[in-house]
Amino acid sequence: MILRVDLVSGKIEKGELPKDYREKYLGGNGYGVVELYKHLKEDPLIFAAGGMDGTIIPTANITGVFGISPLTGFLGESYFKGHFGTEMMFAGYEIIFIKGESKRPVFLHIDGDNVSIEDAREVWGKDAWKTEDHFKYRFGERVEVASIGIAGENKVKFACITHGYGRQAGRTGMGCLMGQKKLKAIVIRGNKPVKTANDERLFGKILELDKLAEGEGTEKYRVYGTPGGLKHLNESGALPTRNWQQASFEKAENITGEEMKHYWKHDISCFSCPIACGKLTSSRKYRVKEEGPEYETIYALGSNCGIDDFNTIIEANELCDTFGIDTITTGNLIALAFELGEKGIIKDKELVFGNGDKELGLIKQIASRTGLGAEMADGIVPFAKKYKALKYAMQVKGMEPGGFHPNSLPAYALSIAIDVRGADHQRAGAYGIDLAFCDEQRFSIKGKARQVKESEDYYTLFDSLGLCKFARKVYNVDLMAELWSLVTGKKVSAKELKEKAAKIYDIEKAINIKLGWKESDDSLPERVTSMPLPDDPVKGRYIKQKDFEIMKKEYYAARGWAKGVPKVKL
Ligand code: SF4
Repeated sequence: MILRVDLVSGKIEKGELPKDYREKYLGGNGYGVVELYKHLKEDPLIFAAGGMDGTIIPTANITGVFGISPLTGFLGESYFKGHFGTEMMFAGYEIIFIKGESKRPVFLHIDGDNVSIEDAREVWGKDAWKTEDHFKYRFGERVEVASIGIAGENKVKFACITHGYGRQAGRTGMGCLMGQKKLKAIVIRGNKPVKTANDERLFGKILELDKLAEGEGTEKYRVYGTPGGLKHLNESGALPTRNWQQASFEKAENITGEEMKHYWKHDISCFSCPIACGKLTSSRKYRVKEEGPEYETIYALGSNCGIDDFNTIIEANELCDTFGIDTITTGNLIALAFELGEKGIIKDKELVFGNGDKELGLIKQIASRTGLGAEMADGIVPFAKKYKALKYAMQVKGMEPGGFHPNSLPAYALSIAIDVRGADHQRAGAYGIDLAFCDEQRFSIKGKARQVKESEDYYTLFDSLGLCKFARKVYNVDLMAELWSLVTGKKVSAKELKEKAAKIYDIEKAINIKLGWKESDDSLPERVTSMPLPDDPVKGRYIKQKDFEIMKKEYYAARGWAKGVPKVKL
């Protein structure tokens, strides 16, 4: 069912999903973008549960959030894991579609069939965790909460939506969109079973999958969480350091997954996940206990800011999570400010790489829009432009990349340039394409464009079916097709699933075209195309503009997009 909520009129409507939705768009990513494409003018905020959420298939618990990004002006799309998507399914709603802007702070309360828009003034001004505490105390531990912190209230353009005390829909500013609508939280509880076409056969398969998910392919995530790969990335010359001026950090051993074990308290898992990659850490210095930090946070607020103190990174992560701001964007903004300080472009002697106290202070200023933080709160492009420093800003379409240095990774460089939501590492995971090679092929552009396209389609299936990408060594497309056939009762092949993914991605691009995309928006930051890396083993590497143009052309051809424009028929 789709739940439609109008925050202006207060109207709440429930309707069946259009008949062809499940077959064509699968769930999650597919549902979110087709609804956004159809209703773009209404500037909605859309939550969509993954197609397999609630089935107890291992790691099927993803929730997607969609809207027009306040940060980039293009497609806004972000995912969080945990228990929310599952609870949406238990309540009977695959999609929650919210339009309009309320005049006063409100929250959406969904208790199965009973749905109401309620006054949120008593939690307005509270951080995301206290907000979650408040609703769990009021409605019981079993409710699931997605909320914004003060950054979302203050319309910081990269504010995120927080769920489960640390799971974030972090990218593209969906928390800012929620703040614009004065929607503090969605509180949900359901109690309907999620039925599949063949429960018995599916259950047998799930038992097999649980064993696979506990196997070798996920060991790194189980033992060290996402920071498990940091050491290798540093040794490979792919760890962003000091605002991307370097690709390895001389103090990296202090911020590895192995080092994080000293701060580890216990593991945290999402619904139906035997991997449990979440690591609760604590810092005595700052007296905090916090889920994470994840690899992306460690690179952004650690090596990229020249910081190697785990206590500072844990505290910075906690501040970002409770205020509700994206750690990747925040870290990149601070790294840029540090570089501008060191170059004397901003006159502030404290703006130097490695200054942890300054980092913590800037996070507070960004969330509250005070001091220098007020200039940073609108995102990296306006901030860099103010100081005529766009050439030092690592961004595409106004959003910064995930933590893999593109100057030595051509497939990844292409993927961040052409991605619909900005410099995104998650849609294609293309760093894996380059890093699969230990020889010169890593640096070659040959065949990489097609691989990027295939990888994007593969990951679109994770986001649509609701599976966690950290289980990518568990799920290939054949297995996804087998599971989807058991869930829906309609036989689907791997080839058909891939075709559906490509069509979903076409819709994403078509949304950007409606929002004014032009071919020059698919470009690389100057630092990627003109700055040879200074450090071994990637010394001298950068992406030549002509190589990038070749890959871009090949990529558009692989997608069947003339000059980057798809033909979309819903
Ligand atoms: S692997 Fe980690 S993020 Fe993914 S579902 Fe499991 S616990 Fe959640």
